Amino acid sequence: MIVVMKTSATKEEVAALMSRVEEVGCKVHPIIGEERTVIGVIGDGTTIDRHQVGRMKGVEQVVPISKPYKSASREYHPEDSVLNINGVMVGGHDLAIMAGPCSVEGRTHMIEIAHACKEAGAKILRGGAYKPRTSPYSFQGLGEEGLRYLAEAREETGMPIVTEVMDPSLVPLVADYADILQIGARNMQNYALLNAVGKSGKAALLKRGMSGTIKEWLLAAEYIMSHGNHNVMLCERGIRTFSQETRNTFDLNAIPVAKQLSHLPVIADPSHATGKWEYVGAVAKGAVAAGADGLIIEVHDEPDQAWSDGRQSLKPERFAKLVTQMRAIAQAVGRDIPEAHMNEAIADLAPA
Ligand code: PEP
Ligand code: MN
Repeated sequence: MIVVMKTSATKEEVAALMSRVEEVGCKVHPIIGEERTVIGVIGDGTTIDRHQVGRMKGVEQVVPISKPYKSASREYHPEDSVLNINGVMVGGHDLAIMAGPCSVEGRTHMIEIAHACKEAGAKILRGGAYKPRTSPYSFQGLGEEGLRYLAEAREETGMPIVTEVMDPSLVPLVADYADILQIGARNMQNYALLNAVGKSGKAALLKRGMSGTIKEWLLAAEYIMSHGNHNVMLCERGIRTFSQETRNTFDLNAIPVAKQLSHLPVIADPSHATGKWEYVGAVAKGAVAAGADGLIIEVHDEPDQAWSDGRQSLKPERFAKLVTQMRAIAQAVGRDIPEAHMNEAIADLAPA
């Protein structure tokens, strides 16, 4: 339920309400606004009497949340959530473009690709150090060495990094390096992992499972949020259908549906959704038109030589062109994709 406090409510009244609901085992999440305080109360609805809460001092209104996912629901937080990832906003007016190779392959390579992605307009760098491969004999990722290269690429470019974590026991290590913890499609319902990411307090990018319903996806987000970690973004990466020509089927519907049901930012992944680079642009543009808050796109300078997912990786030049096209679409739907930051050396030379 949401407890809306009166504008005249005192700090003591807010504190009394919070301790009352915590006493019966509920979790509270106060949203302190300029005008008034709104308190999200999450827990088992049977332990707390809504009418009793409504009679407490300073309370103006108690609004029940009808959805099973509470913190993740739009009812809980009617405004879009905007996450601040080291200065890069996700979920606001500007679309967040994330790009990079599927896997981290080496130090120099990672730094070079990072620069190319940044110049093309990416704001967040991706790269997998722990890879969820279908075959146990495929390349499994460079592990911590890969995380170090990602961190170096962040140092060089200033771009925050998003990278996958697959094992709950590795969350503290990956969280030490990453700005955003990616939870892969295969792990959407790995509750031990969701709990560990929730406890870490790090921002999370939660991919939709390949057969996950939207309700299951939002309940997975709720697992993370139930630990007080509200820095969650959803990622549609295609679901499994009978269609054979593409790796997955991008569920365009999921974007407006998730945005209606939830306040969390929705990111589109056209790379894993299609599995073929030649379709990535069309799906990416469709996602922007449908209201995605950002994209995560695989980019590789030599896709034929990539250690994973080369078939769906865009060369940097193609990615740069796509960003320009997506910008035009973003502007047509009232959003924007800011131009790449000027290289600092060039910026210094530019007239004031
Ligand atoms: C990836 O991002 O490289 C990846 C493995 O994604 P997904 O979990 O969507 O398959
Ligand atoms: Mn990949």
